[in-house]
Amino acid sequence: MATPAHSHYDAVIIGAGMSGLAAGIRLALFEKKVVILERHNAAGGLNSFYFKDGRKHDVGLHAMTNFVPPGPRAKGAPLTKVFRQLRLKREDFDLAEQNGSRIAWPGASLRFTNDFAVLESEVARAFPREIDGFRRLDAAVRAAAAESVALDTAPRSARAVLGEYVRDAVLADMLLLPLMYYGSAQEHDMEWPQFCIMWQALYHEGFARPFEGVRKVIHALTTKYRELGGERCMKCGVEKLRVRDGGVREIVLDGGKVITADKIISSAGLVETLRLCDDQPAEIERKSIGRLSFVETIAMLDQQPHALGWDDTIIFFNDAERLHYARPEELVDPRSGVICCPNNYQYSGGRQLPEGILRVTAQANFDRWMALAPDTTAYTAEKKEWFARLQAEALKFLPGDHPLLTLERHTLATDMFTPRTVLHFTGHLDGAIYGSKRKVRDGRTHLANLFLCGTDQGFLGITGAMLSGITMANVHILGAGGRD
Ligand SMILES: Cc1cc2nc3c(=O)[nH]c(=O)nc-3n(C[C@H](O)[C@H](O)[C@H](O)COP(=O)(O)OP(=O)(O)OC[C@H]3O[C@@H](n4cnc5c(N)ncnc54)[C@H](O)[C@@H]3O)c2cc1C
Repeated sequence: MATPAHSHYDAVIIGAGMSGLAAGIRLALFEKKVVILERHNAAGGLNSFYFKDGRKHDVGLHAMTNFVPPGPRAKGAPLTKVFRQLRLKREDFDLAEQNGSRIAWPGASLRFTNDFAVLESEVARAFPREIDGFRRLDAAVRAAAAESVALDTAPRSARAVLGEYVRDAVLADMLLLPLMYYGSAQEHDMEWPQFCIMWQALYHEGFARPFEGVRKVIHALTTKYRELGGERCMKCGVEKLRVRDGGVREIVLDGGKVITADKIISSAGLVETLRLCDDQPAEIERKSIGRLSFVETIAMLDQQPHALGWDDTIIFFNDAERLHYARPEELVDPRSGVICCPNNYQYSGGRQLPEGILRVTAQANFDRWMALAPDTTAYTAEKKEWFARLQAEALKFLPGDHPLLTLERHTLATDMFTPRTVLHFTGHLDGAIYGSKRKVRDGRTHLANLFLCGTDQGFLGITGAMLSGITMANVHILGAGGRD
């Protein structure tokens, strides 16, 4: 276990995920004495990667949202702000745009790309009576842009607002599905400001991916942080925060070593961070813990997906009349989910990933997976069964006569991660993929020098998490000096 080089810092950051690394770069840029403490052995948090049978697998990455190409659309966009504030160049992420994605329902399909006009024309085609409402909804989202990222914005039901513009329940569910799967910590609904952020991130802007996957982004962030003189300690968890006189006075590390800091930014999550504080009861905020967790199946193929007739980048599918976005009773709810082909991006120079990849994500029940001891026959059998059931359900939405048979014929290797994996990579209680149901937009806690960033501050996704780290570092530590 690495330990910090100094006993006192201007700032300590808990977690080397996307938000913690971005906050660290910001602070190092302004010559703050800063250390990032990470319990895991790899940086990236939820968006990390692992090795299995000689292959590197991304944990989270399907797509980086918020992609804007260089040019007029890039002005003022979140991704532009990330590059500018972190002093990174576009080339550092090597982003390639998606081919195109789909929202697929029984009997209805909406295609969308990084050009919003495509989604608009698809709604006009499939739901002609709803197109005026859809356009008014889009205008309402655009009008709410500033309010949705404000740090003091009030929560409101997105479903309620959506209902004011879209009368067709299927269209409302179709529009919600991608936004929920990529960023709602709430069951059945999401907050209106979060809906607006995700609408912009997915529908106005869009998807891109680095050729090398999430490793490229992690490498760019960790390299920049190191070049600026920032210190990072891996396998160095924070065990406890000792509180006195309304502030954190001591930071106790897993091995027992104690350090101090003027200010602390935590990306560990709201409930998880409060539970580190020794002035809080151990069972604090149980009701705020998120209930949503995911499984993901990964199939490595001996063909590129497009050679099998599968050209979509991402397919958000639902095989029921209405969308059910909630913790399932069973281990997995295979009725809805996300299919992703990381091959289906427009990589520069005609590059292509060496093997085909098909990933399928669906909602899962954390308690039921945790009740199965890992590496037992029962755990392995359930993984096998749900892998097959999820593939069978999802592949109905791929083109071709027998997509499931085609997949089986071309599969070289498979893997599957469960809520256990999410817990392992993030430390999120209940494997809550998008953290707590309660978001703390201003990042403040009950303590004067302890702040939150990342998932539970409320800006989600890779770009959102980086923006969160930047914003919290600017607002709570750099103050006026951090404006640039
Ligand atoms: C399956 C899946 C797919 C996703 N796909 C995408 C995608 O395609 N595109 C996209 O934009 N977003 C995606 N996301 C969302 C994205 O991964 C997250 O929003 C983002 O990574 C969150 O970053 P973070 O820094 O807030 O938190 P985290 O990634 O959770 O990082 C927190 C870090 O803190 C560390 N930590 C926790 N407690 C302690 C402690 N006590 N001491 C020290 N360290 C501690 C953890 O180990 C972790 O490294 C996906 C998420 C999932 C689950």
